[in-house]
Amino acid sequence: MGIIQNKAIFFDRDGVINYRPVGDYVKSPDEFSFCPDLFKFLKFIKEKNYLAIIITNQQGVSKGLMTNEQLSKVHNYMQSELNQKISFNFDDIYSCTDLATNKSSKRKPNPTMILEAIEKYNIDKNQSWIIGDSITDIMAGEKAEIGTIFLGNSLQNPFINPNFKFTNLYQIIENFSKIENFELPFLKYDLDIF
Ligand SMILES: [Mg+2]
Repeated sequence: MGIIQNKAIFFDRDGVINYRPVGDYVKSPDEFSFCPDLFKFLKFIKEKNYLAIIITNQQGVSKGLMTNEQLSKVHNYMQSELNQKISFNFDDIYSCTDLATNKSSKRKPNPTMILEAIEKYNIDKNQSWIIGDSITDIMAGEKAEIGTIFLGNSLQNPFINPNFKFTNLYQIIENFSKIENFELPFLKYDLDIF
C-alpha cells in the first residue's frame, strides 16, 4: 500500500506557453501572447488530473530589464486570462531570475525548481513530464528524473535525447496515450515481488 502521489506536467514558459520574443523578454502583459493550442492543452491535462507547473528562467530581472513586480504582473495576467477562457490555470510558477553568468544552482539546466515542486506537491516522477523548447529544459528534466518532451522544429545537440519530440502542443494531445504508456527509465521495480 503506497501513498497516492500526484502527477505533473512541468512547463517551460517562453516558447511553450507564450511566444518567445527573440533576444528580448516579456516585460509586460501586452508583450505576452499565448502559443496556439495552449488553452486546449492545459484544459486537456487538467481534466486528466495533472498538476500544471511552470519552471521558467527569467534573467531579464537580474539584467535590470524588468522588475520582479513586472514579472508578477505578466504572470497574473496569464493566470486571469486562463481562468476566464478555460476555468483552469497553472497550479504554481517557479521563476529563476538569476543571471546565467552567475552559475546559479537554481537556474535550468539545474533541476532545483522541479525538485522543489516534486517535494512540495508529492509528485510521482514516473508519471511526470517536462515540456520545453530548449536543451536546458530537457537537461533539467533528465536531472530531475522525469520524462522529457522537446517542443520545436530542431534540436541542435546530438547528445540530448528527449523521450519525445513534437512540433506543437496539439501533437502532444494527439500522442498523449503514447506518452502516458511510455515506460520511463527511472522506474524502480521491487525485485522481491518476482
Ligand atoms: Mg523556452
